[in-house]
Amino acid sequence: MSRIITGATVVAGVVGRPVRHSMSPILHNAWLEAAGLDGVYVPFSPTEEGFPAFVDGLRGGNLSGLNVTLPFKAGALAVADRASERAQRAGAANVLVFEADGSVRADNTDGEGLLSAFAVQARGHDLTAAPVVVLGAGGAGRGAVAALLDAGAPEVRIVNRTLARAEQIKTELGGPVRVFGWDALARACAGAGTLINATALGLNGADPPLEALDGLPPDAVVMDMVYKPLNTALLERAAARGHAVVDGLEMLIGQAVPSFEAFFGRPPPANVDVRALALAALGETAEDASR
Ligand code: NAP
Repeated sequence: MSRIITGATVVAGVVGRPVRHSMSPILHNAWLEAAGLDGVYVPFSPTEEGFPAFVDGLRGGNLSGLNVTLPFKAGALAVADRASERAQRAGAANVLVFEADGSVRADNTDGEGLLSAFAVQARGHDLTAAPVVVLGAGGAGRGAVAALLDAGAPEVRIVNRTLARAEQIKTELGGPVRVFGWDALARACAGAGTLINATALGLNGADPPLEALDGLPPDAVVMDMVYKPLNTALLERAAARGHAVVDGLEMLIGQAVPSFEAFFGRPPPANVDVRALALAALGETAEDASR
């Protein structure tokens, strides 16, 4: 069913470069349609240099808000007039809200998405019961560490190729954080309750070292933020070893829920299976995705 765009249509969108493979328009437009709201959600892809001018041009309520993806998340925090504490702690924004007075407010819902993915796919798993290993110290890694500390993780162990990047997160966020190089992976995994891949490894053939799983206790839960492919080699190996697994698509859906509410003023309707729509767009069948 096609929707009618009116003079009153509320417009929101996603900004990234590239943006053509973003799942966000699929999720948000399905919710809009199911809710019968007069709204539309569209993709934008300004140049990296043009990003600040792009945001400035939207001030004053031309757009209700934007989701922000690579490579603009740090830049989005920088151009905003104010930011939530969780966006400041993550050092990045994935949500910009354009207020009627011309100001821009930044938020970060990625951490909420991460925690909600665990709640949906590893129901009952207690992230506060044992140390959490985070592979990666980029934007996603930093956001995950902040969210996990805020959720009460007793210790977060960051494993990263560039140690200085992980050390910087430890210094800036404070709290029970330890830093490991890839050579100390086995030590980082010993006694951990959760392992999260927040590196880009798994996206294009190269996988994170799967030996990571050898050192994990059998009841540990394994999560991969990469969702293309959905069943990364890490998740496949983890499931074969009997670990409960959590995928990156559920995190993506989890961060989109509070974004929708920020843009359209109400939570998304529950009666639409956006996961099935996203799986179809990713070229995955429910069978591929069932574990
Ligand atoms: P980023 O800032 O570019 O960070 C990339 C991370 O991957 C860094 O820790 C980097 O290590 C590591 N890395 C990259 N190539 C590597 C290699 N060959 N060997 C070892 N380490 C390598 O990217 P990001 O924003 O954090 O995103 C990371 C991943 O999370 C991406 O796949 C992204 O799609 C995914 N993500 C998913 C969601 C979701 O909702 N599911 C949300 C956010 C991000 P160095 O520091 O040593 O360079």
